[in-house]
Amino acid sequence: MILNCIFALIIGVLLGNFASTVLFRLPRKIPIHGYNPKLGKVPHCSTCGHTLKFYEYLPVLSWVSTRGRCNYCGVKINPEYTILEVFVSILAFILYFFTSGFSEEYILLLFSGAGLILSCFLIDKAKTDADKTLFMVGILGSIFRTLNEATIFGWLTSFLFAYFIYAFITSKLDGKKVAEYYSLRFILLSGVWLNIPYLLAYLLILLPLTAIKTISQYKKNTFLIALLYIFILIMEFDYYQKVICFLT
Ligand SMILES: [Zn+2]
Repeated sequence: MILNCIFALIIGVLLGNFASTVLFRLPRKIPIHGYNPKLGKVPHCSTCGHTLKFYEYLPVLSWVSTRGRCNYCGVKINPEYTILEVFVSILAFILYFFTSGFSEEYILLLFSGAGLILSCFLIDKAKTDADKTLFMVGILGSIFRTLNEATIFGWLTSFLFAYFIYAFITSKLDGKKVAEYYSLRFILLSGVWLNIPYLLAYLLILLPLTAIKTISQYKKNTFLIALLYIFILIMEFDYYQKVICFLT
């Protein structure tokens, strides 16, 4: 049990570290892999460009050896990367109890959760990279629902439904506005992940919130992404209850 908890934390720290690498490298158009210096770029300081030793970029060790500052130029490291790592680590730990072990659901929920947190940070920096991340989360959603519902018709139906709503709304707006209201894209994503009742509940919150202009885009997007993940966890709980009913 304790070993499993430690294992969950290690998975979280590694995945969080990978996510922060993606967050740093994708908007700067640096290849994600860094082990072949000819093709990619080895881990380096974003300010002075100094190559980092293994204890300066590996998770946990890097916090101990640098204490939030570059060892070469002394510039403070952007806390975003640490926050992202910590969030993903906590998620990996909590999910272990939620899905009662390292199940297929655990892997799917962890990777999609990490992808959603990553996209929160990416949306303001690089929208196309955030799009790619959300697309990946959408693929995971279709696998998650096929696994739990044993059919692809569930997510296909709700996705088509969401797609028509998205197409209807965007046809009323001009292209500039569609780019401005980034959260409209969550309609498509939630269509894959949520079944019709949850999808309707989610859209009832998303649509009015998107229209409110006084709330910043960043706050809206972060709130709607967190809300989507909460709905996903509730759905996972529903599936779990059904399995229990079936077995007893
Ligand atoms: Zn530096």
